[in-house]
Amino acid sequence: MRDYSIRKRVLVTGGAGFLGSHLVESLLEQGNEVICLDNLFTGIKQNIEHLLGNPRFEFIRHDVTNPLYYEVDEIYNLACPASPIHYQHDPVQTIKTSVHGAINVLDLAKRLNVRILQASTSEVYGDPAVHPQSEEYWGNVNPIGPRSCYDEGKRCAETLFFDYHRQYGLDIRVVRIFNTYGPRMHPNDGRVISNFIIQALRGEDITIYGNGSQTRSFCYVDDMVDGFLRFMAVSDRNCPGPINLGNPREFTIRQLGEIVIEMTGSSSKLVFHTLPTDDPKQRQPDISRARELLEWHPETEVESGLRKTISYFDKLLSEENY
Ligand code: NAD
Ligand code: UDP
Repeated sequence: MRDYSIRKRVLVTGGAGFLGSHLVESLLEQGNEVICLDNLFTGIKQNIEHLLGNPRFEFIRHDVTNPLYYEVDEIYNLACPASPIHYQHDPVQTIKTSVHGAINVLDLAKRLNVRILQASTSEVYGDPAVHPQSEEYWGNVNPIGPRSCYDEGKRCAETLFFDYHRQYGLDIRVVRIFNTYGPRMHPNDGRVISNFIIQALRGEDITIYGNGSQTRSFCYVDDMVDGFLRFMAVSDRNCPGPINLGNPREFTIRQLGEIVIEMTGSSSKLVFHTLPTDDPKQRQPDISRARELLEWHPETEVESGLRKTISYFDKLLSEENY
């Protein structure tokens, strides 16, 4: 069994994105070499430009729908547009990224016989009929709706990971990520936290979709990355997951709007827009499995995570004149 305390060469697909860039930083801080692979569809070079001078860091522009050939010790597969605006922009490409991308990274992991983590999502539960969602729940997903390219793509990627595990004995880790936020979220990806913060900072109306009674649970990025690292450090090859990672504290979207207004001291008002098709009504992770297997739980209170995210966007808006 490989000794996970020694320096590794790690491949992170989607490494120039929001979560990927934080993960890359943490892996470098641990002393690893990192290959960051990204086609820059939603990721941006600014997220990683401060790392370019580091001799243990390498950026490669590549699309995961094409095969990959690198020598690495470990793989994290994060490449995929994650917000509804971005993944619905080119749905066919989204599903290709999830499915062909999964096959390509899995083939690489199989060739090298290395551990590989898949960034799956709470969207595999769809509009859940079970609350909170535990990993045993199979989900309630519309296979033909506008969110399906993402939801079904991610479900198929999970299937592929588990088939490579069963068929080839591949050492896989599947994490189901619940809504995560923090600095480097894309300002234009239409996510609720980035939208509300930017609207509040500009004094614009806060756009609540529907009546705002739908719920989400928000995890700060540092906690999420810590969960990935802990899961990858488990030495048992028969520990594929899936494992939910997220913050169980649940908010209605309306409450979130009110908190953001209060924290920014904004004069913005809540306004109500149409709810998008198939928008899940509630979402909250059951993280018992992560607590037990990884001794993991989110450490960052939403107020403190939001404060850091607000100051990130405040700086971004002043610098870049968005
Ligand atoms: P992001 O859009 O910031 O990052 C995704 C990265 O993947 C981007 O840098 C993008 O350019 C890259 N990418 C997209 N298609 C690619 C392709 N074909 N080839 C190579 N690179 C490609 O999003 P994120 O929030 O950082 O999400 C990272 C991963 O985590 C995604 O797989 C996403 O589905 C998953 N996830 C995120 C959340 C969340 O709340 N942020 C929730 C659930 C799951
Ligand atoms: N939402 C909202 N206003 C916005 C953006 C999003 O009310 O400006 C709602 C959206 O309809 C959903 C929730 O906030 O109910 C979370 O949306 P997001 O796109 O951030 O994530 P996801 O739906 O993928 O959980």
